[in-house]
Amino acid sequence: MMKSIMPKDTMTKLNLMPTQKSVQTSKDSLSSISIGRKIVTLSIVVIPFAGIVAAIILLWGRGFGAVELGLLVSMYILTVLGITVGFHRLFTHRSFETNRIIQSILVILGSMALQGPLLKWVALHRRHHQHSDEHDDPHSPYNKGSGILGIIRGAWHAHIGWFFDPDPKDLNRYVKDLSKSNLLSKLSALFPLWVAIGLLIPALLGGLLTGGWMGALLGLLWGGLVRIFLVHHVTWSINSVCHLWGRSPFKTSDHSRNNFLFGILGLGEGWHNNHHAFPFSARHGLKWWQFDASYYVIRILALFGLASKIRLPVPSLAR
Ligand SMILES: [Zn+2]
Ligand SMILES: [Zn+2]
Repeated sequence: MMKSIMPKDTMTKLNLMPTQKSVQTSKDSLSSISIGRKIVTLSIVVIPFAGIVAAIILLWGRGFGAVELGLLVSMYILTVLGITVGFHRLFTHRSFETNRIIQSILVILGSMALQGPLLKWVALHRRHHQHSDEHDDPHSPYNKGSGILGIIRGAWHAHIGWFFDPDPKDLNRYVKDLSKSNLLSKLSALFPLWVAIGLLIPALLGGLLTGGWMGALLGLLWGGLVRIFLVHHVTWSINSVCHLWGRSPFKTSDHSRNNFLFGILGLGEGWHNNHHAFPFSARHGLKWWQFDASYYVIRILALFGLASKIRLPVPSLAR
């Protein structure tokens, strides 16, 4: 079982523990975000999705069919779970414990999502929690100037633009706990290999299932490239949309929001205000109707003895 190496005071400093301030309920403060800011972000996110759906409908039977849909959906779910259950809930926030085999599988699946190596992903996300919507937040949609230009700059920065910023100098200090593990350091360093395997698997399956090079090419396209595109947009929307659009039942020191659409598409990550209020919680969808596929996966792992010490805001939520 994985031990929590990070001391409690460090956890508190990194804002990975709840604060008194974060658990007070408040009225939704939607009014503090301008309609222009919401429209710009939603356009960046929704238009590419609409394009993919249109392409699928237009191409059905001519380069897209049941095999391609199966590869797209299964690779999407597996690699998003690598990020949400693995990179995020297990490694960043230590919200449960598991054995080395499940840890390794989660690092490999998360790496296939092409969002950077484990150690860097965790460091940046811990920094996001420490400085949410402040100057040192790596991907806040705020503080990018006023007026319509500031809004566009903020939405673009939170969604994609922040990748082009230089890395903060002190990232290593956020992952001292993970760096001590030989296994995790090695798996993280092998990031390019996992990405390549994540592209080869759908190509291979596409070729085998349809029996031809064209099938392999279509498998690579839909199960690889289109899947990565969709996974990217959904994950980035947690950074952009979920700090702009939705409800904030908990008063936190940032602009995090619960967003229903990304609760579904992000396999539970869209309940982002809940998450900022209780960063340590393995469960993000705290109400029965807040669909949280990643939490259900953690419960299934626990059922088979593969997850333990699952952390929740209150024990009664363990169902
Ligand atoms: Zn956030
Ligand atoms: Zn988090």
